[in-house]
Amino acid sequence: MARKKIIAGNWKMNMTPSEAVALVETLKPLVATEDADVVFCVPAIDIVPVVEAVKGSNIQVGAENMYFEEKGAYTGEISPNMLVDAGVKYVILGHSERRGYFGETDADINKKMKKAFEHGLTPIMCCGESLEQREQGVTMDFIRQQVKIGFQGLTADQAKEAVIAYEPIWAIGTGKTATTEQAQEVCGEIRKCIAEIYDEATAEAIRIQYGGSVNAATAPELFAQPDIDGGLVGGAALKPDFGKIVNYK
Ligand code: PGA
Repeated sequence: MARKKIIAGNWKMNMTPSEAVALVETLKPLVATEDADVVFCVPAIDIVPVVEAVKGSNIQVGAENMYFEEKGAYTGEISPNMLVDAGVKYVILGHSERRGYFGETDADINKKMKKAFEHGLTPIMCCGESLEQREQGVTMDFIRQQVKIGFQGLTADQAKEAVIAYEPIWAIGTGKTATTEQAQEVCGEIRKCIAEIYDEATAEAIRIQYGGSVNAATAPELFAQPDIDGGLVGGAALKPDFGKIVNYK
């Protein structure tokens, strides 16, 4: 069974609501395709206008984070049911910027993964090593740990629906894309890790993206790798180039 590619933009903390709508209008015709799932993960305040703006197109909307409680005294947080009610389908969980700047732990991310599935949201769970870890040769030990804890308690059927984004921290926003070999190697190892936790069928079904300075020039070779099922794209997702990334073939 061939896995459908999933190419997602991670807008991060960019675009005011009016800028967001203008960007959607620019990108809409450029990202039209039937070959891949196309997702725009946008800041919380942009979700409502972006859901409206993408209507009738192939674009689905994702959030960049959420909390693992449904309601209550959690000032500043956004719940999974709020996202669903607003028309969101995907949610990025455990991005390295959330882990690094906001202290998110693997255990937090696991709670969020479970909550996402409870509400019918598809999580895009990020993992990836620092430069120091790569140099120390502990990349895979570290990522295995992130994946094992992130997926703890999820069923095989849930895991099959999940998306994992492999994003080496040293490649994010730096212009240093991992080489195709590096990206394929780790994505292949992540798939093996899923096979160990679950089984071969689950490993075959789960979609694994590469993220970290993906651009129109690097996307075709990266996305042609056997274990890379698309990308999570930051900077280049805010430009018309995103259309070329989506239609990379
Ligand atoms: P980048 O970001 O493409 O700007 O490196 C990717 C990400 O952080 O998801």
